[in-house]
Formats: sequence, C-alpha cells, structure tokens
Amino acid sequence: MLDERMDRIPMLVLENRTLMPSMVMGVELRDSRSIQAANMAQESGGNIFVAVKKPGSRQDLAYEDLYTVGTLGKVRSISKLHNGSSHVMLEGIERARLLQIFIEEKMYTAVCEEKPYTDRGEDNEKMALLRSLKDVIRLYERENPQFSRDSVRMILASETLREAVRTISANLPLEYTWLAGLLEIDELTENAARLYALLVREVEISRIRNDIRRKVKANIDKNQRDYILREQLKVIRRELGEELNELETDRMAERAQALEADDAVKERIKKEIARLRSLIGNSGEASVSRTYIETLLEMPWNHVTEDNLDLKNAAAVLDEDHYGLTDVKERVLEFLAVRKLTQGADSPILCLVGPPGTGKTSIAKSIARAMERKYVRISLGGVRDEAEIRGHRRTYIGAMPGRIAAGLRSAGVGNPLMLLDEVDKLGNDFKGDPASALLEVLDGDQNSRFRDHYIEIPLDLSRVLFIATANDLRMIPGPLRDRMEIIEISSYTSNEKKHIAQEHLLPKQREKHGLTRRELTVSDEALDLIIEGYTREAGVRSLERMLGKICGRCARMLVENKRKAVRVTAHNLNSYLGRRKFPEKKKISESRVGIANGLAWTSVGGDTLQIEVNVMPGKGELLLTGRLGDVMKESARAGISYLRSVAGEWGIDESFFTEHDIHIHIPEGAVPKDGPSAGITMACAMLSAFTGIPVRGDCAMTGEITLRGRVLPVGGLKEKLLAAGNAGLTKVIVPADNRADIEELSDEITGRLRICYADTMENVLSEVLDRGKDTH
Ligand code: ADP
Repeated sequence: MLDERMDRIPMLVLENRTLMPSMVMGVELRDSRSIQAANMAQESGGNIFVAVKKPGSRQDLAYEDLYTVGTLGKVRSISKLHNGSSHVMLEGIERARLLQIFIEEKMYTAVCEEKPYTDRGEDNEKMALLRSLKDVIRLYERENPQFSRDSVRMILASETLREAVRTISANLPLEYTWLAGLLEIDELTENAARLYALLVREVEISRIRNDIRRKVKANIDKNQRDYILREQLKVIRRELGEELNELETDRMAERAQALEADDAVKERIKKEIARLRSLIGNSGEASVSRTYIETLLEMPWNHVTEDNLDLKNAAAVLDEDHYGLTDVKERVLEFLAVRKLTQGADSPILCLVGPPGTGKTSIAKSIARAMERKYVRISLGGVRDEAEIRGHRRTYIGAMPGRIAAGLRSAGVGNPLMLLDEVDKLGNDFKGDPASALLEVLDGDQNSRFRDHYIEIPLDLSRVLFIATANDLRMIPGPLRDRMEIIEISSYTSNEKKHIAQEHLLPKQREKHGLTRRELTVSDEALDLIIEGYTREAGVRSLERMLGKICGRCARMLVENKRKAVRVTAHNLNSYLGRRKFPEKKKISESRVGIANGLAWTSVGGDTLQIEVNVMPGKGELLLTGRLGDVMKESARAGISYLRSVAGEWGIDESFFTEHDIHIHIPEGAVPKDGPSAGITMACAMLSAFTGIPVRGDCAMTGEITLRGRVLPVGGLKEKLLAAGNAGLTKVIVPADNRADIEELSDEITGRLRICYADTMENVLSEVLDRGKDTH
C-alpha cells in the first residue's frame, strides 16, 4: 500500500492526550490556531492532522516538540465554550507520519503521510499475540470492573490482530505517552507485542492500586466502624442511665498521680483505671473495679508519721492515763527504749494478757498516744477464716481486703500502732488457719511484703507496731505465742479499783456526761459499796458502767432542775443503781462432809468453787460432772490413787474402793474449768466423803497433787486469793513452793487471810479437816 501524502492540511496540537485510530474523543482546545484548524477541517469536511506534544516541551511550538507520528482524523462537532476555548469532538481514522509543520498566523497546517501498520508477521505469531492480548484484557477487566463491558466484548470479538490492536488502543484509557509511543511503531506484530507489555504493566499497576485501595479502605472502614459503634454505645448507655462518669475516672487518675506511693503502685492503679474506663458504667464488673481502685487509693502506702520515742514523755502519758500497773508501764518503757536504740528493727511484739476490763486496750492506746502514732484496733475474736486476715480474691462476690489491710486503710498511715485484740480467741477450721496467716503478718522477715489477696500489691507491714491482747495465754496458738513478748496484767484489788474509779473512771464519765466536779461527787463509801455490792469482776468495766449510769441520772436531775448538785453516798446509792446485786459477804464457817472450797483461775479473773463428792455402793467407778477438763479429771484419778495408798491410815477398808462408786461434781458450771490446781481440793473432799470427817468451811485451797501426795505449785495466786477474800473465806492453803509469789502480793490481798503453806497432802489434810467434828 502506497503511503498517501497530504500537503498542508489543518493540524491541531493535543497536550496530555493522544488520539488513536478508531478512537472517538472530545477535547477542549485553548490554542486559537488549533481551534481554527478544527473549524477549517469541519467546514471542508476534510481530514485534520492531530499531533501530540511531547511532555515537557516549550511553549513555542516547533517540529521537535511533537511526536513524529500522529493520527489523521475528522472533526465531528465543535462547540464554543464561554471562556474562549472550544470543545471539539474528534474521530481517529489512521496513523500518519508528520513530515513538516507550518505555523501560520491563524492556524497550524502540516505536511504528512498516512501510514497504516505494516504487516510482515507470521500467522502463528499473530495468533499467539491475539490470544495473549485477549487474555490480558480479561485480567484487565477483572482488576478494573468499572471498565466498559461493551468495549471488552468488542475487543474479545476481534478476529484479526490488527483489529484487536486498534480496538484496544482506541478503547483503553492508557497513558497518552504510551499511546503516542505505540503510534510510532510501524510493524503490527511489534506494535502488538509492545501493547501486550503495556497491558501487563497496566494490569499490575491496577492490581497494586486496588490492593492499596483495599487496605486503606479497610483501615478507614475499621476506624469508621469503631467510631460508629462507640457513638452507638454511648447513646445506649445514656438511654440505660449507665453513662460512665468520665469525670470520676479522671479524678481517680489525678488522685493516683498525687499518691504517696511507689511508681509500680501508681502504674498498677492507672492500669485498673484504664480498665474501668472500658467497662459499662454500672455493670457488676465496673463496680468491683471501682471499689478496688477506691481501696487502692485509700491505702496509706508510703505515708507515715514520725515517731516520738521520748521516754520521759511516754512515762508521763502512761501515768496520766493509768493508775498502778507499775510493772506493765516499766516493761512498756523498756520496750520503747529498745526500739529507740534499734531503730525499730525487728522488735518483739508485745502481748498484754489479763482478765477483761483491766486496761489492756487502753494501755495500747496510751502507747500510741505517747509515740504519736495513729491507733487502730483489729478484733480477732471469732476469726475463723484465713481470708479474714488475708482478704478474699477479687473474683469472689463481695470480696474485701482482709482485716490487716482494712486496718491500715482506716489508720490512713503506713505505720500505725495496730492492736490485735483477743488473739486467744482466734479460731481455726476447714477454711485455713488464721493463726498462720497472722504469723506471717507478725514475722519481721516476711511482713515487709505482705500480700493481701484482695489488694494484690504487696504491703509493707514492717513499719507497723503490733500489740496483741489476750485473756488466756494458754489459748494463744504456740507459734504465735513464741513471737510475742508477754506482759501479764492481773485483776485489781478493791482498793486499786477505788483509786482507778476516783482518779480516772469518774472524771472520764463526768466529762463524757458534761458534768463538773462540783455538780457530782461520789463518796468513798459509795465507791466501796459499788465495788463490793454491784460489781464482781477482775477489771473495772462494770464499775465504769455503773459510774456512767450514776452520771446519766445526775445529768437528768440537773437538767430537770431538781437539784443544783448531786452527792452520791452509801445511803442513797440504791436510788441510782437499784438494789445491790451481790449479797454481803458472810463468813462461811460451817464445816461439811464431802464439800471442799477450791480456788480457780479463769480468763476473767479468780473464782472460788465448791467441790462436792458423794459415795454410793457400786463397782468402783469414778463419775465426774460439771464441765471439767481433761487435766482436772486426771488429777481426780491421781487423788484417788493417793487416797487408796493411805486408806489404811484413815481406817478405810481396801474393799471400799471396789464396792463403791465415787461421784465428783463442781457446781456453777458455766465457765469450763481445767488445770491441775484443784487436785488437793478434790482429794480433801473425797477423803471427807469416805471418812465422814467434815472439811472446814472457812478454808479454801489450791495446789496440784501427785500420786505420792506431794503438793506442787500452781499459778494465778493473786486472782485466787482475791477471790477467796471476796468470798469471805479466812484461811487459804497454798503449795509451799508458791511462797515467793505470795510474798510479792500486797497486804491488801493477804492481810485479811491466814495463809498456810503445804508441801504434802498430810499438811493439807491436817489444816482443813475438822477433826473436832469427826462423826466417826
Ligand atoms: P481490756 O482491754 O483489758 O478489756 P479496757 O482497756 O477496755 O480493758 O479497760 C476498760 C476501762 O477501764 C477503760 O476505760 C480503761 O481506761 C479503764 N481502766 C482499766 N485499767 C485502768 C487503770 N489501771 N487506770 C485507769 N483506767 C483503767
């Protein structure tokens, strides 16, 4: 085919676009020479040469700025746009080589020749190329679903390679430089191969672009989705009235920041606050989390007070608060001195042991006051569950910190004086052993990192000063007792009680009831009467209560203007307190058979007890009643064995023991009685029952008995002698080995009593059996 040469036909120049043969395309022209050329072409109905400007070419047009191959085309329509440019509809006809350009005053013209593709390729090659092009078009379609289906169909329907190349390059929105480059290739197969390569590249680019778009979209979608969900959640919460108070968590975070605590602790709290923020406002979990955070925020952590270890000051404070208790005060001062020297390192734990109402708690309070420490009391009575000491894990419903952690929280400082009240009442059962948990609390090696199950963060208890109280030393679990330094506080005598009442209890009660010294006076005799007739106790609790009662009455009288001042005397006491509760002591002198007076020490003070023995025909059995402990039962048996060994001396036939049953009973069984100290009393009562010789009624005894009739020393003599005196007894038999203990006691206790020391059972019997009334 001969190339047709065309002379000076109108030419328009495209920037950024390429017109391909068979392509229909609208362009906006600004260049007046191109517009003019288009107009000319439309008027004449003839061809126009559509040239393409190379990228980055100069403003003034020159031949070198144009691709050498362009397209011959027709102008389908022109519409003028108001900004002076024109919209021209072009249709590509055939490729043409540009030979020369003319830039006339009004328009461009060109000399060019039509150049259809040459076709020298082999059929198979062309077929292969055709198929390859169709394949890549399918891929292209997949990556560009928006691409016109008609175009795809047209391309796939192409029967020749030439047709395919034309339709593809006319229809696919490819880069204009790529298209211009394609136009410049003459040979069809070469052109097709080039087109194929471009399409593969295009598909790849589309794929990558789609990938990016998908990722970006996924990202945007997720953000969008989360945002929408969160907004919806807010609305739902508001509807349900569960809106989480942002202010609340913010405030918590501020408090956490301001806390006097290690960074690790603060971090932990902040983490929990973050967790709370993600929970629904009043869900169960949120309220658990909230209480937990509150608890952590209220713990004292590193907040401590400074100790005052000035001994003079401490002595003054202890004296001011308590009458007597000289030994106890001395021990406390020694303890403080040691603390001062050792800087508090691993000092022993004080344990105050004594009957109720003897001032154990109040001594501990005074120590706190003297040392200027915060005071907090933890009651251990009836604690049976380890979790009460160590706390419950938060997974339990209603979980709480243990008492130790709770005590710290309520003290508000990391180094309070913590009173462990009633350690002897610790129970233990299947839920673990609270005593061993307590041991960990008290152990200097472990307690700097005490773990409460609820708090979870280790607490430093090494700075806490622990003081324990107990009524009965024997009931404190052994390992716990070993950790403690025991200070015993004993019962008060009537005289001591009177002093305590005058100097401490009455002023305290007056103040509590808003009374002055002038408004209420209580005479000495009245106090004696209260102590003797209205209270029977080791300590001064009831005494304090009685005085409180008097103050109450007095306050009422003053307010009702019945009196200006009240004076309570022994005579008018019953109008304040009612009738006396305990009868006047009467001297017990009556001697009886089979009944002996014993003296007992109990956790609430001393007591007298009457041991009764009956003998009846039987088979030699021993019957014991009255809530007796094992030790007491055994000492009853020891007593019998001793009596059998001396039976002959008392004229008792050996067969007596096999033909009689012996019943021992100790009345007033409310308090369980145990211990060996009733040994000699039981033996006396039995011998009296066996022989019919009465036992002196004004005489009481205490002492352990051995099989051989020796009398061994016992404890609690102060309490026992006080009880004997209070019960109106006049003579007391005590083991000879207790002489030193007795000599320590004040005259007030021993003065009224005749004390006999015994080291054998014979001594005892000779003192207490009333031979004068021997019925034999
Ligand atoms: P406990 O703890 O031993 O059961 P408390 O410490 O509760 O006894 O004492 C009961 C009351 O008696 C308190 O008001 C306490 O101040 C007072 N009290 C006890 N002993 C004395 C004492 N020696 N001097 C002054 N007050 C005392």
